[in-house]
Amino acid sequence: MSRTTRAGRAKGYVYLIGAGPGDPELLTLKAERALSGADVILYDDLVSSQLVGRFAALKIYTGKRKGSHHFEQDAINEEILRHAREGKKVARLKGGDPFVFGRGGEELEILRKNGIGYEIIPGITAAHGASAYAEIPLTMRHLSSSVAFCTGHPVSKIQVPDADTLVYYMVASSLHEVLDAAKKQGRSDSLKGAIVLNATRYNQKVISGTLKELRQREEPLSSPALLILGGTLNHTLAENWYSRKRRVLLAGGDSGCYKSEECLKVYLPHKPVEGARWEKVKKYLLDIESFTVLLFFDALSVVYFFMALGRCRKDLRHLAGCKIYSAGEAASEELRNQGVIADCSFDNDGSGELLARLQQKGVMHESILLPASTLLNDYPVEELKALQNQVTALGLYSYSATENSESIDLDCIDEIYFSSPSSVRNFRKLYLAIPEKITVTTATDGCEAEYQKLFGG
Ligand code: SAH
Repeated sequence: MSRTTRAGRAKGYVYLIGAGPGDPELLTLKAERALSGADVILYDDLVSSQLVGRFAALKIYTGKRKGSHHFEQDAINEEILRHAREGKKVARLKGGDPFVFGRGGEELEILRKNGIGYEIIPGITAAHGASAYAEIPLTMRHLSSSVAFCTGHPVSKIQVPDADTLVYYMVASSLHEVLDAAKKQGRSDSLKGAIVLNATRYNQKVISGTLKELRQREEPLSSPALLILGGTLNHTLAENWYSRKRRVLLAGGDSGCYKSEECLKVYLPHKPVEGARWEKVKKYLLDIESFTVLLFFDALSVVYFFMALGRCRKDLRHLAGCKIYSAGEAASEELRNQGVIADCSFDNDGSGELLARLQQKGVMHESILLPASTLLNDYPVEELKALQNQVTALGLYSYSATENSESIDLDCIDEIYFSSPSSVRNFRKLYLAIPEKITVTTATDGCEAEYQKLFGG
């Protein structure tokens, strides 16, 4: 008979998780669950801060971008152990897959050595992300029956294995050395190759050419960049399904008037409010039962609301006395993700018809909580008040740079959608001008007037 005891189980638990290559939707369900339950998330370079921003855990950035504190691997190991020893659930989140050029093996050794419980959750590695989003099959009958994942860094470790398709990671600074090595190993000048930059992100770029053409390139490459070489590239198209998507920057949130099938939605970096603003959020959420209606205008407000509710140690049961309304399909969909079917959902195309719609749905004499970004427009608040409602607009998150987030590269954007005058004002703080080729769409007349004022049409 084996006996176990539950005493002495204070040691934490570590999830070693792959976050995928960039598109936050490429996270696995299992990773999502582990991250939702984590006390602390230690995340690397290449993990999008927008992805980690959705989880309530304490977040520690262990990468090295933008002058942030740079963690050496030993310090990261120490940090993982420290939190685990405090009995916490630690999510160690890495770009792509932890076991593909991700130092996952080293961190695993530390966990084993120190007797910390763990599990490993794979992620979509950059090669797979790039292959799918640049439409480059890695194997193909008659063309490629083997594929090798290799590294371009350090240069002394460059290998050219005998495989039909070669994928090189870490080539931003060693492209030429990799291509020279391939040539030296007998690969033909006419062999096709593609460099995929920022695979699966809104700013993905594919540079394709023959081995010879790529060797002649002189412009420096930005990181992250991946190189794919092989016969399957003969089937690569100049345009692929992902590059054909129109990039729409939703400068004031997602009301649902753009559909994911039609475009790629891009957001400004956003983060939860802190300090005095957070204290205010807390005060209202602790008293959530005093509201009769919760009204959501966009998807992110739903995400941040439930995150904040969790931080206040409350859950869906505390909303039982509230009616939940959503304005726009994006909010309704996010509510469904959170397990809530909106009591009532009305269109919100920003057309100024809100009052009539609210009246029609009987949203009157209510005490309404309106979780939103700190940019919330006065317009819906005034409309709601005009119908004898009491309205509390609660700014849960702001559109501003997070510690390690990169600003959006407008050269990669086709259209900008401003949902409110305040979204125009906020945008003006971040960008002085909007490139000519970008189509600007404004939701209301007020919004258009603000745009004309600040960007001169
Ligand atoms: N564990 C990661 C790889 C980390 S090594 C994975 O499985 O994907 C870092 C290298 O990965 C980068 O230099 C680049 O070559 C590649 N990489 C990661 N994300 C990428 C992306 N979105 N686009 C292109 N290359 C990427």
